[in-house]
Formats: sequence, structure tokens, C-alpha cells
Amino acid sequence: MKNNYIDFSDYFGSNGFSAYLSYCDEDYSSLNNRNKFVDNLGFNSRNLVVPKQIHSNKIKLVDNPCRIDNVDGILSKTRSTVLSILVADCIPLFLFNPSTQYFGLIHSGWRGTHSNISQNAINKLKEEGNSSNSTIAVIGPSIGQCCFEVGPEVASKFDSSYSIKGNKDRMLLNLKGIVKDQLIHSGLQKSNILLSSECTYCETETFYSYRRQGNLAGRMVAICGWH
Ligand SMILES: [Zn+2]
Repeated sequence: MKNNYIDFSDYFGSNGFSAYLSYCDEDYSSLNNRNKFVDNLGFNSRNLVVPKQIHSNKIKLVDNPCRIDNVDGILSKTRSTVLSILVADCIPLFLFNPSTQYFGLIHSGWRGTHSNISQNAINKLKEEGNSSNSTIAVIGPSIGQCCFEVGPEVASKFDSSYSIKGNKDRMLLNLKGIVKDQLIHSGLQKSNILLSSECTYCETETFYSYRRQGNLAGRMVAICGWH
């Protein structure tokens, strides 16, 4: 049977640490679907951390399963803890430090990216003794510059090198590129960052896209934790 997810575990190169993004086979904003998905991956859904995301730049360190309000980035070093976030065009950013075994999952749309959520996550990891030099990141499938049309008011919040001209006054924003550069700026090595080229808007059979489907879009779930 074909898997209903992408597996990024190999990239992190650590035996047991695993990271996945679901496809659009189910709407994972349903907690029931999320739990089933997590159990099928071989985790225990009772260990799940479930944030209520609000496009903020807030990061929280967690050490046990919980629901957390108003947070878009979660970090942990508790091996039994399984992290989750929901996406549909926004970036799922996976973080892992093989030396300390800290791991994290960040939800970064343009708002979170503009308010530097990934840098906040790296700073929080630094406070916990993680060297950014050895931190590994995966910028998961999300809306590509091919499809991420924004108005000049949004484009102008970022350096002009991240946008190209679209229709009329619209601009096409390279959100993944911004996050990648923010990570490098925070001290990550280029060679420790995997950038998925997959565009959630273009790949209609594989991913939900809020921009393509509007309010009818379901959500994919990103998961990471230890097996
Ligand atoms: Zn696209």
C-alpha cells in the first residue's frame, strides 16, 4: 500500500528520530484523524502535543503531552513526546539537534515568518544549550513562489530580493527562501537545511492548499518524535 505521508526521518540521520508530513487523504484538523495517523505511524497518540495555532511567533518548550493555546512553535527533548502542527500552504519547519536530542516543529506562514518565528525557535534552542551549528532543519512542502501571490503591502515587509512581479500589482513571494535565510542567519549550516521544492498549491492530488481551496481546504499534519 502506498504511504499516506512523506518521511523526512532519513535526513536527520538519527536512529529513532522521525519526522513526517501527511498527504491530503484526510482532514487532519480533526483530532480523531490526527490520532489515527499518529498511531498508524507507530507512535502513541496519547503522547501528542497539540497546539492551537494563531500565526504568531510564539515558541513553547514542552515536556509532556498537552493542548497548548496560542502558540506556533513547539520544542521538546522528552523522548515520549510527539509533536504535531497543522498546515495547508504554510511552512512546516522541522528542527532536530542530534547532539542534545532536542526537536521541534514550527508553523510558519508569512506572518510568523515576518515576525521571525524560526529565529525565535533557534534562540530558544540556544538558551537550552543547542548549538545552531549542529541543528538540522527541514523546510517542508508549502506554497512555492510559483503560486504565492501577495499584495505589495505584504511583499514590502520583506527584502525585495524575495519577490518577483506577478499579475498587475501582485507579487510572488519566496517564503521558503526567506525562512532558509533566517535559519542561516541564526547560525545553521546551509548543508544542514533541506528545502522541499514541492508546492502545495501546484500539487493538487497530494496536498491541501488554502490558497487554492479556500475555506474548503482541509489540513495536513506534520509530526515528529522518537520511535
Ligand atoms: Zn506552485
